[in-house]
Formats: sequence, C-alpha cells, structure tokens
Amino acid sequence: MTMDFLARCRAIAGTDHVLTAATDMAPFLTDWRGRFTGSALAVLRPADVQQVAALVRACADWRVPLVPQGGRTGLVLGSVPDASASAVVLSLSRLNRIRSLDAVNRTITVDAGCILQAIQDAAAAEDCLFPLSLAAEGSCTIGGNLSTNAGGTAVLRYGNTRELCLGLEVVTAQGAIWDGLRGLRKDNTGYDLRDLFIGAEGTLGVITGAVLKLFPQPRAALAAMVAIDTPRHALDLLHLMQARCGASLTGFELMSDLAMRLVATHFPALPKPFTARHRQYVLVEVSSSQSCEHAVELLESAIADALERDLADDAVVATSVAQARGLWQVREHISMAQAAAGKNIKHDISLPISRIADFISSTDALLEAAFPGCQLVCFGHLGDGNLHYNVAPPEGASHDAFLLHQEAVNRIVHDSVAAFNGSISAEHGIGMLKRDELIRYKSEIELNMMRAIKSALDPLGIMNPGKVL
Ligand SMILES: Cc1cc2nc3c(=O)[nH]c(=O)nc-3n(C[C@H](O)[C@H](O)[C@H](O)COP(=O)(O)OP(=O)(O)OC[C@H]3O[C@@H](n4cnc5c(N)ncnc54)[C@H](O)[C@@H]3O)c2cc1C
Repeated sequence: MTMDFLARCRAIAGTDHVLTAATDMAPFLTDWRGRFTGSALAVLRPADVQQVAALVRACADWRVPLVPQGGRTGLVLGSVPDASASAVVLSLSRLNRIRSLDAVNRTITVDAGCILQAIQDAAAAEDCLFPLSLAAEGSCTIGGNLSTNAGGTAVLRYGNTRELCLGLEVVTAQGAIWDGLRGLRKDNTGYDLRDLFIGAEGTLGVITGAVLKLFPQPRAALAAMVAIDTPRHALDLLHLMQARCGASLTGFELMSDLAMRLVATHFPALPKPFTARHRQYVLVEVSSSQSCEHAVELLESAIADALERDLADDAVVATSVAQARGLWQVREHISMAQAAAGKNIKHDISLPISRIADFISSTDALLEAAFPGCQLVCFGHLGDGNLHYNVAPPEGASHDAFLLHQEAVNRIVHDSVAAFNGSISAEHGIGMLKRDELIRYKSEIELNMMRAIKSALDPLGIMNPGKVL
C-alpha cells in the first residue's frame, strides 16, 4: 500500500523529489530550535500548483496525512511531522516564483514558497515596499507567514500578514485548486474564505500562491533607542510618539535591561547605545516619505518632548540608516543572546496595550513569589501589545532543572494573560506546542466552531493533523 502511494507520488513529482532515505529527509524533520524531531513516510517536493494538487489527491486517496512546510522557522512545532512516521512532509520550497508585480494596483503575486526577503527585494526593485519584516526573513516563506499570520516589527504601521494579503490560491484537502488570487481592496461577496486559510497553520488546505499589498517605499526609516524607567513610561511614550508622528511611527519595541545586557554579553561587537544602565529601553522607528532629514527632525523633536515631560531618561538618535540598522540589530539579537545564555521558558503573548504595565508588574510579582530570583527577559512589539515574556532560572541555577517547572510557570503566566483579557499566542501560532493551552483558554463555543470548520474543509482529517486542534 505504502509502495503504491509512493509510486504515485514519484509519478507526479519525479523520483528525485520524493525523498525517503533517512539522511535526505533529516533536514525536514527537526524544528528550528532543535527541540523536536519527527518521522515521515516521505518528503514531497512538488514543482508547481498542479503537482501540489495531484499529491494532495494521492494523500486523500490513500488517507495519508500531510504536513505543509515552508522555511521551517515556525516556533510552535507546526511544520514538522509527529513521531509516527505515518505522514508526508509537503515542502513548498520549489514553488518560489515571483509571478507578477502591478505597481499601479500596488500588488505583487507570488508563489507560496517564495522566501520573504526575495519578496521584499522584488518590491524594492520597483520602488515599492512589502512591509512584513521579521528576524527570520532570510529563511521563512510567505506561505508560512500567511499560515501563521506572522507579525514582526512593522505591524504597528502596516498590520500583520493577514492585513497584507488580498488574495490566495489554495489547494483544498480534496486536491482541488481554488483560485482566489484577487487583487481587490473591496470584495464583500459572502464568507471570507481567504481569512480562513490565513493563520490556519496548514490544517485546512495548502496555500500555493498569494496576492500581497505593496506600499510606497519610504525615503528613510530612522530609529532611536530611548532609556526609560518602567513599562508605564513606555506606554506614555508610545502615546506621545503616536500623537507626534502619526503614521510615520513604524516601530516601537520594548526591551528590559536584562535583555539588553544579554545582547551586550553574547554579541559584544554590536552597538552599546548607553554607557549607564537603565531599567527599560524602547526602540522607536520613524519613517518619512520625504527625506532622511525629515525623519530625524520628527524623531528628535518628539524625543525632546518626551525628555522634557520626564517620560524618558536618555536617548540615542540614529542620524543615518546605517546607525538605525545597528540599533535594530541589538533588538534582533535578543532571542539569540537568550539562547546562548541557556534554556528558558518562553511566552508569546498579547494584551490590550493599556493593560501591559499592570500585567508585567502583577505577573512579575506572582513569578517572584513562586520562584524567588527567577529572571524575566521581557521584550517585544509593545506598539502591538505583543510581549515575549520569557522566564529564566535564578542566576547560577541549572537551566535544565528550572525547565522542569515549565507547566507551573506557564500556568502563572497564561492565567494572568487570561485575567488581563490577552492571548496566549500573539504571533507564533499554536502548532503542537500550544494545543493543550488553546483548549484550556478558548471557550467551548469557540472551539466547536473551529472544529466544525476543520471537519467541513478537511473531512478526512489529513491536513496537518495534531496541530492547532
Ligand atoms: C529568528 C526568528 C525570528 C522570528 N520572528 C518572528 C516575528 O517577529 N514574528 C512572527 O510572527 N514570527 C516570527 N518567527 C516565527 C516564524 O518565522 C514565522 O512563524 C514564519 O512566518 C514561519 O514561516 P515558515 O515558512 O518558516 O513556515 P514553517 O515553519 O515551515 O511553517 C509554519 C506553519 O505554517 C504551515 N505552512 C507553511 N507553509 C504552508 C503553506 N504553503 N500552506 C499551508 N500551510 C503552510 C506549516 O504546516 C506550519 O504549521 C520567528 C522565527 C525565528 C526563527
């Protein structure tokens, strides 16, 4: 039976693109952080949408589960198979064409396997901006970005991936090709099927193409690092920057002192914006459609105002794009610095922006009471209400031993998130990692609607089973 199925796959995609040897499959089976390695019947590497559709039909005929995979940078174990070796991995990496760019409609149509950076570059070549930006942009694919509804650093101004997508092409769980590649900004013709597939983590169908929104390329995007005292000061500063800069405010990232010190320790070559230590820092980005000078002027006058009102203790303003890049690098290296420091318990959460300061002080206190001396590496996209709220062991304590408390730490953090009306997954999704947490925190009504959608679109249950639901 397995041989018949694999023979069909080989007839569709070609022998070279149906991998079954352990060494060939290995790179497709382990998650980005190396926490989990699954097993697969085969790794399928189709060349185009017709091959994807034919392979999905084969999976449906033989009832073989399939795991769509893009750049495998997802952080919740969504794109790797489980350990049963019963599923195939369907890699979209060969579907990597920029199909077309319409500068007047301000849209770009791409294959789902395009690397995010390639899309940014194709847009820039036509003096346009595709604003989705995240540290994994050199490896992640737009299909993965859409399937996880990725956020990143520009959500404050441009929205998350859902808001950047106008149309999709999807291979359904039955192997039919749905051409929803519409470049329309208005289309009220019934249920929004596109939005069902966005954020579905490959559990409803395979995204094979997308029409994405483009924006005018700003003339300059400059940044400042602002030293502040508490998260509440950060919220006041955000309010002020929004009032002063309007749509020119394109980034607003919070970093705790510990996050900053970890970067300084593990990446000593990166810029050190301040000689003195402060309790918190905010990275502010301002973009101008006019000029570099205009961006500097906006940034400097708003920050001068903040210093005058005692919202900020100190600030370093980048006056060139290269300096701004250096400040961003500090922010982008926090996760890697944390990894270098040892394992910790991670949370990707969101909260109503107005409640973030209260959430941090109350949750910090709960954790300190339960795990005295534990270290909180709190940073994230404050302008979107999104925190990476990571808990590390007390200084000198064993990281592995502390990880045994993961369940108890998660309970404190996620119960607190729920009490503040937040979300336990802001931008990374659910995958296998947070499935039990989803069940704990979503209402039965919400879960039942999700299950109904899943069984309507994927009645055989072959699309990425065990993920999300
Ligand atoms: C260093 C680093 C920084 C990151 N920063 C951010 C960040 O700032 N914001 C953020 O939101 N995320 C971030 N991430 C997480 C990750 O990069 C994103 O989730 C990304 O969107 C995943 O894309 P991918 O192509 O790697 O998808 P994969 O990891 O391959 O897949 C992710 C999920 O999508 C499904 N999938 C993939 N392609 C398709 C398809 N074509 N059709 C249907 N389903 C599909 C998979 O089955 C899986 O469930 C970061 C990750 C790393 C490693």
